[in-house]
Amino acid sequence: MDRRQGDMPPEEFEEHGRRAVEWVAEYLAHPDRFPVLAQVAPGQIRAALPAHPPEQGEPMEAILADFERVILPGITHWNHPSFFAYFAISGSGPGILGELLASALNVNGMLWKTSPAATELEEVALDWLRQLVGLPEGFMGIIMDTASMASLCALAAAREAVTEHRFREDGAAGGPRLRLYTSEQAHSSIEKAAIVLGLGRAGVRKISVDDAFRMDAEALRTAVAEDRREGWRPFCVAATVGTTSTTSVDPVPAIAAICRAEGLWLHVDGAYAGIAAVVPEFRWALAGAEQADSIVINPHKWLFTPIDCSAFYCRHPEVLRAAFSLVPEYLRTAEAEQTEVRDFMDYGVQLGRRFRALKLWMVLRYFGREGLAARLREHIRLGQALAGWIDADPDFERMAPTPFSTVCFRARPSGRPPEALEGLNAALLDAVNATGRAYLSHTKLRGRYTMRCAIGNIRTTEAHVRDAWALIRGELRRLLDAS
Ligand code: PLP
Repeated sequence: MDRRQGDMPPEEFEEHGRRAVEWVAEYLAHPDRFPVLAQVAPGQIRAALPAHPPEQGEPMEAILADFERVILPGITHWNHPSFFAYFAISGSGPGILGELLASALNVNGMLWKTSPAATELEEVALDWLRQLVGLPEGFMGIIMDTASMASLCALAAAREAVTEHRFREDGAAGGPRLRLYTSEQAHSSIEKAAIVLGLGRAGVRKISVDDAFRMDAEALRTAVAEDRREGWRPFCVAATVGTTSTTSVDPVPAIAAICRAEGLWLHVDGAYAGIAAVVPEFRWALAGAEQADSIVINPHKWLFTPIDCSAFYCRHPEVLRAAFSLVPEYLRTAEAEQTEVRDFMDYGVQLGRRFRALKLWMVLRYFGREGLAARLREHIRLGQALAGWIDADPDFERMAPTPFSTVCFRARPSGRPPEALEGLNAALLDAVNATGRAYLSHTKLRGRYTMRCAIGNIRTTEAHVRDAWALIRGELRRLLDAS
């Protein structure tokens, strides 16, 4: 056979495909047989790979063998049930199968016509998700790769909607000095969006937070008034439901009232905790979000959907279109011009679009509302349990309230001066992560080094959280004994 033409033969695909699926099944059954955090040095993986591409094609056996031998040791296992860093995520069975089928179909959903099912399933899956989190009708949903991109699109739409200046047509020159408001605890993606849109970091005013790390709505009101006096043009507030460091929830109803009174666009970044609203007792997380102009929540964070899949909702699809739609001749279709079909390319930056809705739809169908809520509820129960163990231990203290399943804490053994705690906690985190038995990350709260344990992987059980807690306490003892 001439291997210089055509694809992998179907029989070969079937054989390797079966083996790959078997490998995945075995991997998902025991991801904990690997160290959760990759134990490799910088450059180690690159050094193990050839510097030049192969001249001739290689057999799949050799490629898959190198996947196990060279690549796997450099993988940090986000599927590991003791992955507690950042926000833990899950590649769930139905989501992985959805990815497989989507990549096999390999459709580009840029236009309705280029794959009608991709567009219409996206409309349906996002409408289901909207219902699951209790948002009212009237929000158009679209899948973006990340919350960062969704927030960028939200801000672009906001400035078209709120100001008289035609940013899209005329550029920023000659326009008002725009000001965006977000809390000191907001995710960096909001500020990054401002950078990309030409607002500059000066165009972002960070509002102070209260004791529980929630935006101070009165400080927001004062800031807007002050800025107007100084010639700024306030245009948007980005509130956060579930801040990255502590998962605090901004007072969205109060912020929405200010936005209404001031004529500002309200964008809600619920990338992580917006998903909690799937649990009936945690519907409150999205209270006030029904008044938002745009919202982002991430199924790829806490809804068991493989990365990437971010759900962006907007109450003004016509504004998104006004901000982004640009249709050259080669993308015109009769369906878009003569019927009601939606071309998703008109509602954001990207033209080409993966069929991400398939995996989300499969996740929503496979687990169902009850199954999703039960899993999220259990994560929250485990987070609360860990918070209780920390509170009961005199050598530790919690650094923030725990509204959901992410716990912020630090070691504070008696007899240690406050200035020693920074180094001690950083050393403790490194020691825990170096064991490969659990992986936690950190943040700083009010200038103090803080460990974060984020429970959100679908395979995490109480035993994993108990083990992690025992590991943290054990490593602290070891560090104290050694010093
Ligand atoms: N917003 C919040 C509150 C986050 O915590 C994160 C990531 O952790 C993001 C936005 C960015 O998410 P993405 O990686 O989807 O851009």
